[in-house]
Amino acid sequence: MAEHLTTQSVIELDDAWGAHNYHPLPVAIAEAEGAWVTDVEGRRYLDFLSGYSALNFGHRHPALIAAVRDQLDRLTLTSRAFHNDRFGAFCRDLAGLTDTEMVLTMNTGAEAVESAIKVARKWAYEVKGVAFDAAEIIVASGNFHGRTTTIVSFSDDPVAHDNYGPFTPGFVTVPYGDAQAVRDAIGPNTAAVLMEPIQGEAGVVVPPDGFWSDVRAACDENDVLLIADEIQSGLARTGELFALDHEGVRADLYTLGKALGGGIIPVSAVVGRRDVLGVLKPGQHGSTFGGYPVAAAVGHAVVDLLRTGEFQERSTELGAHLHRRLGELVGHGVAEVRGRGLWAGVDIDPAAKTGREVSMALRDQGVLCKETHERTLRIAPPLVITAGEIDHAVDALGAALQA
Ligand SMILES: *Cc1c(COP(=O)(O)O)cnc(C)c1O
Repeated sequence: MAEHLTTQSVIELDDAWGAHNYHPLPVAIAEAEGAWVTDVEGRRYLDFLSGYSALNFGHRHPALIAAVRDQLDRLTLTSRAFHNDRFGAFCRDLAGLTDTEMVLTMNTGAEAVESAIKVARKWAYEVKGVAFDAAEIIVASGNFHGRTTTIVSFSDDPVAHDNYGPFTPGFVTVPYGDAQAVRDAIGPNTAAVLMEPIQGEAGVVVPPDGFWSDVRAACDENDVLLIADEIQSGLARTGELFALDHEGVRADLYTLGKALGGGIIPVSAVVGRRDVLGVLKPGQHGSTFGGYPVAAAVGHAVVDLLRTGEFQERSTELGAHLHRRLGELVGHGVAEVRGRGLWAGVDIDPAAKTGREVSMALRDQGVLCKETHERTLRIAPPLVITAGEIDHAVDALGAALQA
């Protein structure tokens, strides 16, 4: 049993004992269900962030909880030293859902991205014939792909990057959304282009129409892999399984995470071409927990939820409603709204408030979301939210902007 705590005592404990690598809103959550959370004092809030899209199916979706419970009663971990009765069927059905040929399971999103980088480099040397240690990967300005030393090496956000050197070489940065810049950056040593189809942390930045088909063509012409980091944008967040699906473009590798674990445990994967992931031979890459039976159970249940298309449909329809409602706030404290499906970046008018001030005012109205950078709110409600709940939250946002 957890000890009885107040919001104030939770904050004091966190400050005293936890590393200060986050700046949370002052709200202490104790319970949650669906789109709603309850704090230690019994106040209820509508969740308008969904754990940065890790909670696409809401808190404690019954099918996901049941899958984990059932697995806990049978088998938790074998390590990959042995086979188990969950792993292969999960991989088969995840490949089926994503129309890909092979699955590499990991735990966190950053590990999936690291794995994709390793695979792309190995493919460049062993298949494409790039000179040893010369492989380059093209990335975008404003990117967010995780927090490892290699990944922050090519972050241009000083807060994420500075003082973590020496940095990993082999990355070339081009402006996000500029297909000609991608083309110009491709050389004989280019292994891959690694980008988010829509940039999440950057503030839900959608590239111009045609960008992705141009990048796909440039990759095809130059034997370069396209790696789509769909960790935040994928798994129905934008109304399609992948955000790239809106462009009719296929990637060679996709990185998945966040919602793949159903908001219950960390589950990530790289999915894609057999001839690319096939460069990995026994012992060359791995993870003790990657794809372990509990991960496979929850991941498989997530695949089952996505197979019906119900969540993609909800995101499309409710997303249109959300964007219509947010559009009404432009000129009333909001400068711009971007996004797709149930995902929106809301730029606060510089003359109005900071993102933090608006997040605090929203909290006071019973809605939880969080700023990214100074003046942008990132809105990503659980896909189980209703139209009425969206109205409630957008009304609260309108009031928070005026407050
Ligand atoms: C969150 C995120 C990651 C990192 O995932 P972690 O599980 O936090 O390591 C990578 N790429 C994108 C696009 C993300 O949004």
